[in-house]
Amino acid sequence: MPKISSIGRNISKLASYMLSNQYTIQQVKTIITAEGDIITDDIISVLLTDSRRITNAADGLFFALSGRRNGHAFIAEAYAAGVRNFVVKQGPEIKLPHANFMIVPDVLTALQQLATHHRDRFNIEVIGITGSNGKTIVKEWLYQLFAIDKNVVRNPKSYNSQIGVPLSVWQMSEKNELGVFEAGISMPGEMDRLKEIIKPSVGVLTHLGPAHNEGFEDFKGKVREKLKLFVGCRLAIYNYDQVTDYKDEIIADNCFTWSRTFRQADLYVFSETVISKSYYLRAKYKEQEIECLVPFTDEASVENAITCWATMLALGYSPVEADKRIERLTAVSMRLELKNGTNDCSVIDDTYNSDIQSLEIALNFLNQQNQHKKKTLILSDIFQSGLSEEILYKQVAELVHSKTIDRFIGVGEALMSRQDTINVPEKHFFADTNALLAKLNTLRFRDETILIKGSRSFEFERISRLLSQKNHETVMEINLNALLNNLNYYKAKLKPGVKVMAMVKAFSYGSGTFELANMLQYNKVDYLAVAYADEGVTLRQSGITLPITVMNAEYSAFDKLVEYKLEPVMYSFGLLDEFVKYAQLNEISAYPVHIKLDTGMHRLGFEEFEVDTLCDMLEINKYIHIKSVFSHLVASDAAEHDGFTETQIKRFDTSYKKIEEALGYKVIKHLCNTSGITRWPAAQYDMVRLGIGLYGVDAAVPPTEGVLQPIATLKTSVSQVRKVTAGDTIGYSRKGLMADDGKIATVRIGYADGYLRAFGNGVGKMLVNGTLVPTIGNISMDMTMIDVTALNVEEGDDVIVFNNEYRIEELATQIGTIPYEILTNISQRVKRVYFYE
Ligand SMILES: *Cc1c(COP(=O)(O)O)cnc(C)c1O
Repeated sequence: MPKISSIGRNISKLASYMLSNQYTIQQVKTIITAEGDIITDDIISVLLTDSRRITNAADGLFFALSGRRNGHAFIAEAYAAGVRNFVVKQGPEIKLPHANFMIVPDVLTALQQLATHHRDRFNIEVIGITGSNGKTIVKEWLYQLFAIDKNVVRNPKSYNSQIGVPLSVWQMSEKNELGVFEAGISMPGEMDRLKEIIKPSVGVLTHLGPAHNEGFEDFKGKVREKLKLFVGCRLAIYNYDQVTDYKDEIIADNCFTWSRTFRQADLYVFSETVISKSYYLRAKYKEQEIECLVPFTDEASVENAITCWATMLALGYSPVEADKRIERLTAVSMRLELKNGTNDCSVIDDTYNSDIQSLEIALNFLNQQNQHKKKTLILSDIFQSGLSEEILYKQVAELVHSKTIDRFIGVGEALMSRQDTINVPEKHFFADTNALLAKLNTLRFRDETILIKGSRSFEFERISRLLSQKNHETVMEINLNALLNNLNYYKAKLKPGVKVMAMVKAFSYGSGTFELANMLQYNKVDYLAVAYADEGVTLRQSGITLPITVMNAEYSAFDKLVEYKLEPVMYSFGLLDEFVKYAQLNEISAYPVHIKLDTGMHRLGFEEFEVDTLCDMLEINKYIHIKSVFSHLVASDAAEHDGFTETQIKRFDTSYKKIEEALGYKVIKHLCNTSGITRWPAAQYDMVRLGIGLYGVDAAVPPTEGVLQPIATLKTSVSQVRKVTAGDTIGYSRKGLMADDGKIATVRIGYADGYLRAFGNGVGKMLVNGTLVPTIGNISMDMTMIDVTALNVEEGDDVIVFNNEYRIEELATQIGTIPYEILTNISQRVKRVYFYE
């Protein structure tokens, strides 16, 4: 009986979809040549690789990929979310009923085989894109250019990895007329695999630059690997000037080249002029002079636009049509922006593109937010999905339902006509953006997280502007992907089982509170640490549930510690005694605390000679429970003090052993801060305390290695530009003297923002339109003057104080301090905006 009903279910499902990316489990098993018994021959259509992000579980096939975390550990989580079909390397440890386990030697290879099989079913033009920079922009722009007359499938966001490409190709359906897929590699051998999955008929090469050399012997090796994408393409499109050394590597039937120097190139660009905010190009093509207006002027965008221009021409579009479409290219932003909204709201701004995959990513990000109980989604109609409207909005409805949204605000005819399918506690629908704007006040946004997600033509930035707090033009942008990158960089250095305590004290080194904590919690760090109880209270009030350690627990804060389940550090007999008395009085037992040992810092902690007495006190104490014992290295980054670090390690070993023995139970031992993780792998013990490395700075990892990404960009803008003459002085106390005639710009940042006075009089520099210029005169409280003589600068132009290229390490050197101080000095007046891609 059960067998028949399950067949019945499958047949009716098949009939309702009849879509190309549906496979029976039996088919999948054959395609990936797996072992294992099929219990029910389900139909799957969704590929899942992350147990935290399960949608459409019933139609899902989960791949237990082993990356930094072993995917097999997440089978139970995926099962609990309703997934019943798995591709695994080993069967699950416990028997899970009614589930299919397909066993393969390599799970990633199986995912790629399935995608390859799917790809092979479609005989359409597929453009494959590779290069060091600009892949995603070129991919998105080609999409914008070709979607006007074709149904185009492309990678969501920058899904260009060994996992991202199969997931991208999986979206191909009969409706598509063109595929545009980018391929990114970081190790030798990877391109062959991606090429097999994408099988491009046309190859496009974007800018080659030295980004991410690691994994390859040298730059050339990396370029050669990239060029493998073109093997067997009917056509390869590239910039002739940058591949002169690699002519033999490009094995394609035909080439279409563009160049700024080589007259015989198919597209020879001979004239480039800036016309206000546009860029006017003239070129020779098929013996004719043709032209193109690019709506961007920066170097990278122009190069990417020329690549797109060449691609349109190579694919047979007329120069007139190409020009017409390129003129209308719009900026590509793949990032979600999290910012403070009005009325205590948080706003997640994703107003640039809309498709089902990016909706899912945005909803996951919304669900990571714990700072408000209520969650609202403002969504527009989705265009160009390649799916029929019926299936598309069915998927939207399922997605919205599975993400537990409190309030849904739909904009557009298609959503409006499907109101009934959206299942949320509160919903509103509007025919267009103007209709929503007219009623915006009546929706009473308050204390909630609002995700604003719309197709470009809906101009949802108009809504976002009304719901967000105004910025005072000086903002610190925090890149949450960089935070994750850095976290993973250190995690990869840890021995299995070693825990991570993320140091989020002092407003996460100046970078934020719950915004970072949410990200760290979601990505499963084990502990957070703050300096004072109040910082921990803020995190708890924002919904953070991770254990939180408080480094400096004051007597006056004991009530708060207990109320908010914060774990204090005991560093002296006085404090320990007070806390034990407090616990006794309040009838608290086994309260979790941490013991800090002083092994050489001489700041806080029990010294070696005090440990025996400490053991006596702990032995008989039922009011507290020792969660961990730790100490702090004073110079883990400095080779000249390595002997002292070894002494600290020895002292720590002696002391913690005594304590564990006295307690009669195991505690978590930890010693390493950031540079300790990098330089003292043998001292990882049970946990490490990761601080500045999370934020992208590690004295033991040279910036040139490019493995850490600074997460913060401090940006301000020009409020006024003026000409000055030789002998004029600039600013307070006449300190800035102009030697010659020149031009200065006043920018909106001063020492009250954390740009210290020490940066004045040419000590500090800022980036203006790509050029570093010195400060001139003293720094004021709210303003700074910079010397922009000979530069083309206008009021309102962006000015970078630091970013991931002009780094805080450099600023620290300028004024003789350390990066920690530069970061934590940025005052709370400077708004933080968070990005996630
Ligand atoms: C701040 C702090 C850290 C983190 O140090 P980084 O050098 O930023 O990694 C580790 N342990 C303790 C006790 C700290 O106070």
